[in-house]
Amino acid sequence: MDGRNCKRRIKLQKFIISKLHKKMLTDHAVKEEPNESCAILYGESDDEFWKVKEIWLTKNIDSSPIEFTLSAEQTMEMYQKEEELNLKIIGIFHSHPNGEAYPSNTDKKFMKNNPYVWAIYSGINEEFRAYVLKSDISEIQIQN
Ligand SMILES: [Zn+2]
Repeated sequence: MDGRNCKRRIKLQKFIISKLHKKMLTDHAVKEEPNESCAILYGESDDEFWKVKEIWLTKNIDSSPIEFTLSAEQTMEMYQKEEELNLKIIGIFHSHPNGEAYPSNTDKKFMKNNPYVWAIYSGINEEFRAYVLKSDISEIQIQN
């Protein structure tokens, strides 16, 4: 596939999240300030969309404004929930209390190992954006 086709395909891909789920995530982010917050998003996906159906608000054990980590227990639970909910992990949410809603270099590194949608909320301008890593970072359109 050449670059042009590849871009077109990414452009078609949408990240579908309800206003309620988005509000739950942004409320969680505000509550956890000044530290980064995180959550796991479960749902369905295909070539054209990623659709959020359930969210699990997790605890950032780093308690840091610039990093987030899930405990080993939470990581185990994160995968168990796929079976419980009968849904796939489709996304990872986290917040940047003091930064823009754009993946940091650390985020980019983790995106390689976690090929989901990465939704980021900025505490400075309240923007909520979503990205996927293909050959490079691509922002994807959010739909309610
Ligand atoms: Zn980040």
